[in-house]
Amino acid sequence: MAEISNNICCECGACCAYFRASIYWGETDEATPGGIPMEMCEKLNDFFVFIKGTNDVPPRCSALMGIIGKSVHCSIYDKRASVCREFTPSWENGEPNPRCDKARAAHGLEPLTPNHWPKPGNFPKAA
Ligand code: SF4
Ligand code: SF4
Repeated sequence: MAEISNNICCECGACCAYFRASIYWGETDEATPGGIPMEMCEKLNDFFVFIKGTNDVPPRCSALMGIIGKSVHCSIYDKRASVCREFTPSWENGEPNPRCDKARAAHGLEPLTPNHWPKPGNFPKAA
């Protein structure tokens, strides 16, 4: 799922309302202090849980606040799971992410392009 750590994702949130966010139970706060709150999760099997809402039809993570495609934030940002932290928006690292594109398309949003990201020469100069 999305790492909502940049303006682009804060104006999107599509992946948080498209994929089931399955998490190894060891990432919950039952096993790891400061982990994702177990109360936000439901059991998937003996080893995995999923974040509530992401297995619904249609899916929407219960931690996702705001309006998709406009303005969103993650209410458990500091405690979100690795699956969320590791999900990269297309072209953030110079490569497309087809899963990002797919989630955005499902919510009527165009895929990101390299032009969505600052180019090296466009960063403001230090004072
Ligand atoms: S926990 Fe946060 S980052 Fe992860 S799917 Fe939910 S809203 Fe998105
Ligand atoms: S779908 Fe892509 S752009 Fe949208 S929140 Fe997820 S990672 Fe960010």
